[in-house]
Amino acid sequence: MKFGTQLIHGGEPHPLIERAVTMPIFQSSTYEIANNGSGEINYNDIKYVRLNNTPNHIALHEKIAQIEQGESALVSSSGMASITSALLGFVGPGEHLIAQDNLYGGTLHFLKEFFPKLGREVTFFPAEEMQNLKHALKKNTRAVYVESVSNPLLKVPDLQEVVKFAKEHSLLSMIDNTFPSPFNFNPIPFGFDVVLHSATKYLNGHSDVVAGAMVSTKENVRKIMPLFNHLGGCLDPHACFLLHRGLKTLGVRVRSQNESALKVATALKNCKKVARAIYPGLPNHPDHARAKEWFKGFGGMVSFEFDGTVEQAEAALKKLRIPRLAPSLGGIESLYVRPATASHSGLSSAEREKLGIKDTLVRVSIGLEDSDDLVEDFVQALN
Ligand SMILES: *Cc1c(COP(=O)(O)O)cnc(C)c1O
Repeated sequence: MKFGTQLIHGGEPHPLIERAVTMPIFQSSTYEIANNGSGEINYNDIKYVRLNNTPNHIALHEKIAQIEQGESALVSSSGMASITSALLGFVGPGEHLIAQDNLYGGTLHFLKEFFPKLGREVTFFPAEEMQNLKHALKKNTRAVYVESVSNPLLKVPDLQEVVKFAKEHSLLSMIDNTFPSPFNFNPIPFGFDVVLHSATKYLNGHSDVVAGAMVSTKENVRKIMPLFNHLGGCLDPHACFLLHRGLKTLGVRVRSQNESALKVATALKNCKKVARAIYPGLPNHPDHARAKEWFKGFGGMVSFEFDGTVEQAEAALKKLRIPRLAPSLGGIESLYVRPATASHSGLSSAEREKLGIKDTLVRVSIGLEDSDDLVEDFVQALN
Protein backbone atom coordinates (compact mmCIF):
# COMPACT_ATOMS: atom_id res chain seq x y z
CA MET A 1 0.00 0.00 0.00
CA LYS A 2 1.12 3.55 -0.68
CA PHE A 3 1.42 6.26 1.98
CA GLY A 4 -2.10 7.71 1.67
CA THR A 5 -3.70 4.27 1.89
CA GLN A 6 -1.49 3.22 4.82
CA LEU A 7 -2.59 6.34 6.69
CA ILE A 8 -6.23 5.31 6.45
CA HIS A 9 -6.09 1.49 6.54
CA GLY A 10 -2.67 0.62 8.06
CA GLY A 11 -2.97 -1.12 11.43
CA GLU A 12 -6.78 -1.05 11.46
CA PRO A 13 -8.24 -4.15 13.15
CA HIS A 14 -9.32 -7.10 10.94
CA PRO A 15 -12.13 -7.90 11.29
CA LEU A 16 -13.45 -4.52 12.42
CA ILE A 17 -14.35 -4.44 16.11
CA GLU A 18 -18.16 -4.76 16.30
CA ARG A 19 -17.99 -3.60 12.64
CA ALA A 20 -17.06 -0.12 13.86
CA VAL A 21 -15.49 1.70 10.90
CA THR A 22 -13.41 3.81 13.29
CA MET A 23 -11.06 2.35 15.90
CA PRO A 24 -13.00 2.47 19.21
CA ILE A 25 -11.46 3.80 22.43
CA PHE A 26 -10.62 1.02 24.90
CA GLN A 27 -10.89 3.05 28.09
CA SER A 28 -9.79 0.19 30.33
CA SER A 29 -6.54 0.27 32.28
CA THR A 30 -6.39 -3.51 32.70
CA TYR A 31 -7.61 -6.65 30.90
CA GLU A 32 -8.77 -10.08 32.03
CA ILE A 33 -6.04 -12.70 31.84
CA ALA A 34 -6.80 -15.54 29.44
CA ASN A 35 -7.45 -18.94 30.93
CA ASN A 36 -6.62 -21.70 28.43
CA GLY A 37 -9.40 -23.96 29.73
CA SER A 38 -7.16 -26.37 31.64
CA GLY A 39 -7.20 -23.89 34.49
CA GLU A 40 -3.66 -22.81 33.64
CA ILE A 41 -3.21 -19.06 33.65
CA ASN A 42 -0.76 -17.45 31.26
CA TYR A 43 0.76 -14.50 33.10
CA ASN A 44 2.82 -13.50 30.04
CA ASP A 45 -0.47 -12.43 28.58
CA ILE A 46 -0.97 -9.40 30.85
CA LYS A 47 -2.43 -6.39 29.07
CA TYR A 48 -2.14 -3.03 30.83
CA VAL A 49 -2.01 0.55 29.54
CA ARG A 50 1.50 1.19 30.92
CA LEU A 51 2.74 -1.88 29.01
CA ASN A 52 1.62 -0.20 25.77
CA ASN A 53 -0.16 -3.33 24.54
CA THR A 54 -3.86 -2.45 24.54
CA PRO A 55 -5.84 -2.54 21.25
CA ASN A 56 -5.46 1.25 20.83
CA HIS A 57 -1.68 1.01 21.18
CA ILE A 58 -1.37 -1.97 18.86
CA ALA A 59 -3.32 -0.33 16.02
CA LEU A 60 -1.37 2.92 16.37
CA HIS A 61 2.01 1.15 16.46
CA GLU A 62 1.25 -0.71 13.23
CA LYS A 63 0.03 2.41 11.42
CA ILE A 64 3.04 4.54 12.45
CA ALA A 65 5.52 1.74 11.62
CA GLN A 66 4.00 1.46 8.13
CA ILE A 67 4.09 5.19 7.31
CA GLU A 68 7.72 5.50 8.50
CA GLN A 69 8.59 2.27 6.60
CA GLY A 70 9.95 0.68 9.78
CA GLU A 71 9.31 -2.74 11.31
CA SER A 72 7.96 -1.61 14.64
CA ALA A 73 6.79 1.52 16.48
CA LEU A 74 6.19 2.57 20.07
CA VAL A 75 4.05 5.56 21.02
CA SER A 76 4.55 7.57 24.21
CA SER A 77 3.08 10.36 26.32
CA SER A 78 5.29 13.06 24.73
CA GLY A 79 8.06 13.56 22.21
CA MET A 80 10.46 13.99 25.13
CA ALA A 81 9.34 10.65 26.66
CA SER A 82 10.28 8.88 23.41
CA ILE A 83 13.53 10.82 23.00
CA THR A 84 14.81 10.43 26.59
CA SER A 85 13.80 6.75 26.76
CA ALA A 86 15.55 6.01 23.47
CA LEU A 87 18.71 7.92 24.47
CA LEU A 88 18.93 6.19 27.85
CA GLY A 89 18.00 2.79 26.43
CA PHE A 90 20.41 2.78 23.51
CA VAL A 91 23.36 4.61 25.10
CA GLY A 92 24.30 2.86 28.34
CA PRO A 93 26.37 4.06 31.31
CA GLY A 94 30.00 4.44 30.28
CA GLU A 95 29.02 4.86 26.63
CA HIS A 96 29.36 7.93 24.42
CA LEU A 97 26.98 9.77 22.08
CA ILE A 98 27.79 12.18 19.25
CA ALA A 99 24.96 14.73 18.90
CA GLN A 100 24.24 17.63 16.54
CA ASP A 101 24.75 20.97 18.34
CA ASN A 102 21.56 22.89 17.44
CA LEU A 103 19.00 20.38 18.72
CA TYR A 104 15.47 20.97 20.00
CA GLY A 105 15.81 22.81 23.35
CA GLY A 106 14.46 19.99 25.55
CA THR A 107 16.72 17.38 23.96
CA LEU A 108 19.75 19.67 24.14
CA HIS A 109 19.16 20.48 27.82
CA PHE A 110 18.58 16.81 28.70
CA LEU A 111 21.86 15.81 27.02
CA LYS A 112 23.83 18.67 28.60
CA GLU A 113 22.40 18.52 32.14
CA PHE A 114 21.28 14.96 32.78
CA PHE A 115 23.12 12.64 30.40
CA PRO A 116 26.49 13.05 32.19
CA LYS A 117 24.84 12.73 35.63
CA LEU A 118 23.41 9.41 34.45
CA GLY A 119 26.88 8.15 33.55
CA ARG A 120 26.77 8.80 29.81
CA GLU A 121 29.11 10.97 27.72
CA VAL A 122 28.12 13.33 24.91
CA THR A 123 30.08 15.34 22.33
CA PHE A 124 28.21 18.05 20.40
CA PHE A 125 29.00 18.50 16.78
CA PRO A 126 28.21 21.44 14.41
CA ALA A 127 25.36 20.55 12.05
CA GLU A 128 27.40 22.03 9.15
CA GLU A 129 30.38 19.73 9.68
CA MET A 130 28.95 16.24 9.50
CA GLN A 131 31.77 15.21 7.15
CA ASN A 132 34.17 15.62 10.12
CA LEU A 133 32.29 13.37 12.56
CA LYS A 134 35.33 11.12 12.90
CA HIS A 135 36.99 13.82 15.05
CA ALA A 136 34.32 13.20 17.71
CA LEU A 137 34.63 9.41 17.61
CA LYS A 138 35.79 7.65 20.79
CA LYS A 139 36.37 4.01 21.68
CA ASN A 140 33.10 3.95 23.63
CA THR A 141 30.96 5.82 21.04
CA ARG A 142 27.66 3.99 20.69
CA ALA A 143 25.34 6.25 18.68
CA VAL A 144 24.90 9.45 16.62
CA TYR A 145 21.88 11.73 17.14
CA VAL A 146 20.64 14.34 14.64
CA GLU A 147 17.48 16.18 13.54
CA SER A 148 16.34 16.08 9.91
CA VAL A 149 15.52 19.84 9.94
CA SER A 150 16.81 22.21 12.62
CA ASN A 151 14.85 24.78 14.58
CA PRO A 152 14.48 27.73 13.86
CA LEU A 153 16.93 28.17 10.95
CA LEU A 154 15.58 25.09 9.12
CA LYS A 155 19.01 23.71 8.29
CA VAL A 156 19.28 20.23 6.80
CA PRO A 157 22.50 18.52 7.95
CA ASP A 158 24.37 16.17 5.65
CA LEU A 159 22.23 13.19 6.63
CA GLN A 160 23.88 10.95 4.03
CA GLU A 161 27.25 11.52 5.71
CA VAL A 162 25.73 10.69 9.13
CA VAL A 163 24.32 7.37 7.87
CA LYS A 164 27.61 6.47 6.15
CA PHE A 165 29.67 7.33 9.23
CA ALA A 166 27.37 5.34 11.54
CA LYS A 167 27.52 2.26 9.30
CA GLU A 168 31.31 2.49 8.95
CA HIS A 169 31.81 2.52 12.71
CA SER A 170 28.89 0.23 13.71
CA LEU A 171 27.10 3.03 15.55
CA LEU A 172 23.37 3.36 16.01
CA SER A 173 22.05 6.33 13.98
CA MET A 174 19.15 8.18 15.63
CA ILE A 175 17.11 10.99 14.07
CA ASP A 176 14.33 13.30 15.25
CA ASN A 177 12.08 13.52 12.17
CA THR A 178 9.42 15.80 13.71
CA PHE A 179 9.77 18.76 11.30
CA PRO A 180 9.48 17.01 7.89
CA SER A 181 6.98 14.38 9.18
CA PRO A 182 6.85 10.97 7.43
CA PHE A 183 4.99 12.60 4.53
CA ASN A 184 8.09 14.55 3.45
CA PHE A 185 10.88 12.24 4.61
CA ASN A 186 11.34 8.60 5.71
CA PRO A 187 14.71 8.23 7.48
CA ILE A 188 14.63 4.40 7.71
CA PRO A 189 14.87 3.60 3.97
CA PHE A 190 17.45 6.43 3.88
CA GLY A 191 19.59 4.36 6.29
CA PHE A 192 18.80 5.56 9.83
CA ASP A 193 18.26 3.01 12.61
CA VAL A 194 15.96 4.85 15.04
CA VAL A 195 13.38 7.53 14.16
CA LEU A 196 11.85 9.75 16.86
CA HIS A 197 8.84 12.04 16.69
CA SER A 198 7.09 14.61 18.74
CA ALA A 199 3.68 13.30 17.65
CA THR A 200 2.31 16.48 19.28
CA LYS A 201 3.24 18.25 16.04
CA TYR A 202 2.45 17.02 12.49
CA LEU A 203 1.51 13.39 13.30
CA ASN A 204 -1.47 14.45 15.41
CA GLY A 205 -1.71 17.83 13.71
CA HIS A 206 -4.55 19.41 15.67
CA SER A 207 -2.77 20.96 18.69
CA ASP A 208 -4.94 18.93 21.07
CA VAL A 209 -2.64 16.07 22.14
CA VAL A 210 0.88 15.73 23.52
CA ALA A 211 2.45 12.45 22.34
CA GLY A 212 5.63 10.89 21.00
CA ALA A 213 6.71 7.99 18.83
CA MET A 214 9.76 5.88 18.10
CA VAL A 215 10.18 3.69 15.00
CA SER A 216 12.91 1.10 14.48
CA THR A 217 13.53 -2.62 13.95
CA LYS A 218 11.50 -5.17 15.94
CA GLU A 219 14.69 -6.04 17.82
CA ASN A 220 15.44 -2.42 18.81
CA VAL A 221 11.88 -1.79 19.96
CA ARG A 222 11.93 -5.03 21.99
CA LYS A 223 15.24 -3.93 23.51
CA ILE A 224 13.87 -0.57 24.64
CA MET A 225 10.58 -1.95 26.03
CA PRO A 226 11.59 -2.98 29.60
CA LEU A 227 13.16 0.42 30.35
CA PHE A 228 10.36 2.29 28.58
CA ASN A 229 7.67 0.38 30.51
CA HIS A 230 9.36 1.17 33.84
CA LEU A 231 9.91 4.86 33.05
CA GLY A 232 6.16 4.90 32.49
CA GLY A 233 5.77 7.38 29.64
CA CYS A 234 2.74 5.58 28.19
CA LEU A 235 0.06 7.24 26.06
CA ASP A 236 -3.44 6.99 27.52
CA PRO A 237 -6.16 5.32 25.39
CA HIS A 238 -8.12 8.49 24.72
CA ALA A 239 -4.96 10.29 23.57
CA CYS A 240 -4.19 7.20 21.42
CA PHE A 241 -7.59 7.62 19.79
CA LEU A 242 -7.01 11.32 19.07
CA LEU A 243 -3.55 10.68 17.62
CA HIS A 244 -4.97 7.81 15.52
CA ARG A 245 -7.69 10.12 14.17
CA GLY A 246 -5.27 12.97 13.51
CA LEU A 247 -2.83 10.71 11.65
CA LYS A 248 -5.37 9.79 8.99
CA THR A 249 -5.24 13.30 7.52
CA LEU A 250 -1.43 13.70 7.74
CA GLY A 251 -1.08 13.41 3.95
CA VAL A 252 -3.64 16.04 2.99
CA ARG A 253 -2.53 18.37 5.78
CA VAL A 254 1.20 18.31 5.03
CA ARG A 255 0.69 18.49 1.26
CA SER A 256 -1.30 21.68 1.79
CA GLN A 257 1.17 23.03 4.37
CA ASN A 258 4.09 22.43 1.95
CA GLU A 259 2.29 24.50 -0.71
CA SER A 260 1.20 27.32 1.57
CA ALA A 261 4.59 27.59 3.26
CA LEU A 262 6.31 28.06 -0.11
CA LYS A 263 3.82 30.80 -1.03
CA VAL A 264 4.27 32.58 2.31
CA ALA A 265 8.08 32.23 2.18
CA THR A 266 8.15 33.67 -1.36
CA ALA A 267 5.95 36.60 -0.31
CA LEU A 268 8.14 37.23 2.74
CA LYS A 269 11.28 37.18 0.57
CA ASN A 270 9.76 39.96 -1.53
CA CYS A 271 8.68 42.03 1.50
CA LYS A 272 10.66 45.25 2.05
CA LYS A 273 10.64 44.86 5.84
CA VAL A 274 12.04 41.33 5.68
CA ALA A 275 15.85 41.15 5.77
CA ARG A 276 15.92 37.40 5.11
CA ALA A 277 13.26 34.76 4.45
CA ILE A 278 14.38 31.27 5.52
CA TYR A 279 12.72 28.22 3.91
CA PRO A 280 14.43 25.08 2.55
CA GLY A 281 12.18 25.36 -0.52
CA LEU A 282 13.69 28.74 -1.52
CA PRO A 283 16.61 28.33 -3.94
CA ASN A 284 18.75 30.73 -1.84
CA HIS A 285 18.49 28.51 1.29
CA PRO A 286 21.97 27.02 1.95
CA ASP A 287 20.56 23.47 2.17
CA HIS A 288 18.02 23.77 -0.68
CA ALA A 289 19.79 21.20 -2.88
CA ARG A 290 19.82 18.55 -0.12
CA ALA A 291 16.21 19.16 0.83
CA LYS A 292 15.20 18.97 -2.84
CA GLU A 293 17.03 15.69 -3.35
CA TRP A 294 15.99 13.93 -0.14
CA PHE A 295 12.57 15.32 0.83
CA LYS A 296 9.21 14.98 -0.95
CA GLY A 297 8.29 18.50 0.20
CA PHE A 298 9.94 21.34 2.09
CA GLY A 299 7.60 21.37 5.09
CA GLY A 300 5.31 23.84 6.81
CA MET A 301 7.88 25.82 8.81
CA VAL A 302 9.07 29.25 7.65
CA SER A 303 11.36 31.70 9.45
CA PHE A 304 12.25 35.30 8.66
CA GLU A 305 14.37 38.15 9.99
CA PHE A 306 12.59 41.46 10.37
CA ASP A 307 14.47 44.44 8.95
CA GLY A 308 14.39 46.86 11.90
CA THR A 309 14.56 46.94 15.69
CA VAL A 310 13.01 44.34 18.01
CA GLU A 311 10.39 46.95 19.01
CA GLN A 312 9.47 47.55 15.35
CA ALA A 313 9.28 43.79 14.78
CA GLU A 314 6.96 43.39 17.79
CA ALA A 315 4.77 46.25 16.55
CA ALA A 316 4.47 44.62 13.12
CA LEU A 317 3.72 41.17 14.57
CA LYS A 318 0.91 42.67 16.68
CA LYS A 319 -0.79 43.61 13.41
CA LEU A 320 -1.07 39.96 12.31
CA ARG A 321 -4.74 38.88 12.29
CA ILE A 322 -4.52 35.17 11.49
CA PRO A 323 -1.46 33.46 13.07
CA ARG A 324 -1.47 33.21 16.86
CA LEU A 325 1.53 33.87 19.06
CA ALA A 326 2.23 30.45 20.59
CA PRO A 327 4.98 27.84 20.85
CA SER A 328 4.61 24.40 19.24
CA LEU A 329 3.95 23.73 15.57
CA GLY A 330 2.46 21.38 13.01
CA GLY A 331 -1.19 22.10 13.81
CA ILE A 332 -4.04 23.18 11.57
CA GLU A 333 -3.80 26.79 12.78
CA SER A 334 -0.85 29.02 11.91
CA LEU A 335 1.33 29.94 14.89
CA TYR A 336 4.38 32.13 15.28
CA VAL A 337 7.05 32.84 17.91
CA ARG A 338 10.13 34.98 18.19
CA PRO A 339 12.71 32.31 19.21
CA ALA A 340 14.67 34.91 21.27
CA THR A 341 11.68 35.03 23.64
CA ALA A 342 10.76 31.33 23.42
CA SER A 343 12.92 28.30 22.49
CA HIS A 344 16.20 30.26 22.78
CA SER A 345 15.33 32.65 25.66
CA GLY A 346 17.79 30.79 27.94
CA LEU A 347 20.72 32.13 25.90
CA SER A 348 22.18 35.66 25.82
CA SER A 349 21.70 37.82 22.74
CA ALA A 350 25.39 37.27 21.87
CA GLU A 351 25.10 33.47 22.22
CA ARG A 352 22.04 33.49 19.96
CA GLU A 353 23.86 35.67 17.42
CA LYS A 354 26.65 33.05 17.35
CA LEU A 355 24.06 30.41 16.41
CA GLY A 356 22.76 32.74 13.70
CA ILE A 357 19.53 33.50 15.58
CA LYS A 358 18.90 37.26 15.53
CA ASP A 359 16.55 38.80 18.10
CA THR A 360 14.31 39.91 15.20
CA LEU A 361 13.99 36.35 13.87
CA VAL A 362 10.40 35.08 13.69
CA ARG A 363 9.43 31.41 13.24
CA VAL A 364 6.10 30.57 11.66
CA SER A 365 4.23 27.25 11.60
CA ILE A 366 1.92 27.36 8.59
CA GLY A 367 -1.55 25.95 9.21
CA LEU A 368 -4.43 25.06 6.91
CA GLU A 369 -5.91 28.53 6.47
CA ASP A 370 -6.31 29.72 2.86
CA SER A 371 -2.81 30.56 1.66
CA ASP A 372 -3.95 33.81 -0.03
CA ASP A 373 -5.27 35.02 3.34
CA LEU A 374 -2.00 34.12 5.05
CA VAL A 375 0.10 35.91 2.42
CA GLU A 376 -2.12 38.98 2.56
CA ASP A 377 -1.98 39.04 6.35
CA PHE A 378 1.83 38.88 6.54
CA VAL A 379 2.19 41.53 3.82
CA GLN A 380 -0.24 43.99 5.50
CA ALA A 381 1.33 43.51 8.94
CA LEU A 382 4.94 43.86 7.78
CA ASN A 383 4.30 46.81 5.49
C1 LIG B 1 8.27 19.65 20.18
C2 LIG B 1 9.49 18.90 19.81
C3 LIG B 1 10.02 17.93 20.66
C4 LIG B 1 9.44 17.62 22.01
O1 LIG B 1 8.17 17.05 21.89
P1 LIG B 1 7.02 17.11 23.03
O2 LIG B 1 5.92 16.38 22.40
O3 LIG B 1 6.76 18.55 23.32
O4 LIG B 1 7.61 16.40 24.23
C5 LIG B 1 11.14 17.24 20.22
N1 LIG B 1 11.73 17.52 19.04
C6 LIG B 1 11.26 18.45 18.20
C7 LIG B 1 11.95 18.70 16.91
C8 LIG B 1 10.12 19.18 18.56
O5 LIG B 1 9.65 20.12 17.73
